[in-house]
Amino acid sequence: MGRAADPSRMSDTCIFCSIVDGEIPARTVYETDDVLAFLDANPLALGHTLVIPKTHAERVGDLDADLSSAVFDAVSEITPEVEAAVDADGANIGINDGEAAGQEVPHVHVHVVPRFDGDGGAPIHAVAGERPDLADEELDAIAADVSAAIDG
Ligand code: 5GP
Ligand code: ZN
Repeated sequence: MGRAADPSRMSDTCIFCSIVDGEIPARTVYETDDVLAFLDANPLALGHTLVIPKTHAERVGDLDADLSSAVFDAVSEITPEVEAAVDADGANIGINDGEAAGQEVPHVHVHVVPRFDGDGGAPIHAVAGERPDLADEELDAIAADVSAAIDG
């Protein structure tokens, strides 16, 4: 008989929590008390690595300051090593935050995608839709709105 769903056990519903709990195998490349990094199962490039907090958080804004630091510390530590391991010339680093941005797994994860000279890929500027053509006043208003929202 199957185990009853326990809402506190995110590995019942979250594939990355299942990886953290060892219930689903992964090619782990780095681990600390708070962070796990493993190869993406469907890589965009050689060495495509995902860096996740071990505790479940869906969106980047759900991470507390310590966990954010731990995740970015891991990203900055392992990115040069991932690049070296696959002889890459650079990497794109990004988070799909929310379904509208392409997030499919609802557990925060940082993509480290190694890049190679002439690989035919694009910079991170290519991820969004049509570019807005904004006047200076509109940019000023957006900056004021964002700043107020952050202060709010
Ligand atoms: P997202 O679109 O949510 O930003 O990206 C999810 C990523 O997780 C995808 O690149 C996908 O290939 C990867 N992924 C999904 N399921 C698994 C899995 O079970 N194991 C591993 N290693 N990667 C996975
Ligand atoms: Zn999770």
